[in-house]
Amino acid sequence: MKLFGVIGNPIMHSKSPRMHNNAIKNFGFDALYTRYNLEDKNKLKEVLIDLKFSGTNITLPFKEEAFAIADVKDNSILDIKAANTLIIKKSKIYAYNTDILGFLKAIEDFKNLNKVLILGAGGTARAIAYALRYNNIKEIHIANRNLARFDSFKDFTTMLYEDISDFNYDMVINTTSAGLCDDSLACDKKILEKVFSHCKYAFEVIYNKETSFIKLSKKYNLIYKNGLEMLLWQGVFAFELFFEIKNQQNSIKNFMLEALNLE
Ligand code: NDP
Repeated sequence: MKLFGVIGNPIMHSKSPRMHNNAIKNFGFDALYTRYNLEDKNKLKEVLIDLKFSGTNITLPFKEEAFAIADVKDNSILDIKAANTLIIKKSKIYAYNTDILGFLKAIEDFKNLNKVLILGAGGTARAIAYALRYNNIKEIHIANRNLARFDSFKDFTTMLYEDISDFNYDMVINTTSAGLCDDSLACDKKILEKVFSHCKYAFEVIYNKETSFIKLSKKYNLIYKNGLEMLLWQGVFAFELFFEIKNQQNSIKNFMLEALNLE
């Protein structure tokens, strides 16, 4: 039996075991997908090898470490320097980031995007910024509440929320955790209202509740999505890598969605 899993800290909340195990069961694979709470990032490689994982997803706060320990890195992650999927074959670690493709798949029906504003400057913002760049979006602006994280966005336009002066964006994306546990927005509501009044699309990475960001998107009649499809598609692409299968994406997605709906 092959062993897969998701590694992070905290990890109890992760939906990946449900999603992957339901797909594994329906495909009839001889495999199990578990979760592993890692305390010390320096033990990541040891855990992968000692527990004989065939593949893992990696979540907060170990995506950078996952990139660092990999022997072989997919070309698409060389700029991002963060991995969310590892494959272990013959004691070699191969690193990928399926958040990139997951996000692009989720916004597939958002058309004519030229100028995009990303709220937040963490790991997800970074994956999304490069995903947009790979998709040839010309202007990608990153806004955050402090300057500290802008070091990892040196080749993007960055600004504090209060310094946003041109409100003409086609899409705005919330990558912050604001609204996850409360009703807050990433920035002052007035700033967001100005952005929303010019904008066509809104994307929220949080997937398990209607956040204030989504509520405001509705108020401004924007075409919006939450992070559910991104979550599902990053899982689908990881599953393809784990089991080396192709042309089964819709079946995988449906099995994963079914697992979430069973909760
Ligand atoms: P990080 O910790 O790397 O970055 C978080 C960002 O959010 C930082 O810019 C931080 O600002 C900002 N932030 C946090 N709280 C607030 C707040 N109250 N107000 C304003 N800004 C805030 O996290 P990640 O990028 O890895 O994850 C962000 C979110 O994305 C999480 O909610 C995660 O669950 C979700 N996610 C969803 C996925 C999906 O498939 N749908 C995939 C991956 C992540 P500062 O720099 O000032 O601290």
